[in-house]
Amino acid sequence: MYIVMLGPPGAGKGTQAKKLAEKLNIPHISSGDILREAVKKGTPLGRQAESYMKEGKLVPDSIVLELLKNKIEEEKRGFILDGFPRNLQQAEELDRTLREKDKKLDLVLNLLVSEKAVVDRLSARLTCPKCGSVYRKGDASYERGVCESCGVRLYQREDDKPSVIKKRIKTYLESTHPLVDYYKKRGVLRDIPGEGSPEEVFEKIVDSLGL
Ligand code: AMP
Repeated sequence: MYIVMLGPPGAGKGTQAKKLAEKLNIPHISSGDILREAVKKGTPLGRQAESYMKEGKLVPDSIVLELLKNKIEEEKRGFILDGFPRNLQQAEELDRTLREKDKKLDLVLNLLVSEKAVVDRLSARLTCPKCGSVYRKGDASYERGVCESCGVRLYQREDDKPSVIKKRIKTYLESTHPLVDYYKKRGVLRDIPGEGSPEEVFEKIVDSLGL
């Protein structure tokens, strides 16, 4: 299956995409993780992307596509895309790439979360620098500050700081939210209430997919 996770920053796209990818046994492709890895390694594309990410802006399409296109083209069994597409141009590029392989997007899961919940979640979460897992306040791993799978120290993403959070939400509303209509018109959008625990939200996804 070819699936896209949509929703504002902090909606839980990464957490849900990871769980669903495991259940369906298809890869989880996170544009944010791939970009952060490129920044960490200091590659030429990573160096170009860094300042946009720090400011909560979208990284230019040319950079994102160069990092992602091979991964998308190579996948034969399907994938769950998390964080991509983030604007109409990227959505059209994804359509084109799938069409060239005689495939099409099966489903877009749109996680619905209020703006207040997004701000609360982003400002109280820690991320694993190795596997990208996210822990919220109250999780045992958050309190210990160590990833339960990798055993490495968790960190607060630079763009999870209050001044950048506002900008990321604005960027989402301006550039990414129009994709809700784009996919609704094509009949592939499914709204999923995204508030509640990760387990509760996952159950809603599983129910909605009839798994
Ligand atoms: P995320 O981990 O999905 O919240 O992404 C973190 C940051 O990476 C975003 O705020 C953007 O700066 C950048 N980013 C991730 N995916 C994309 C994309 N598809 N297009 C442009 N920028 C992106």
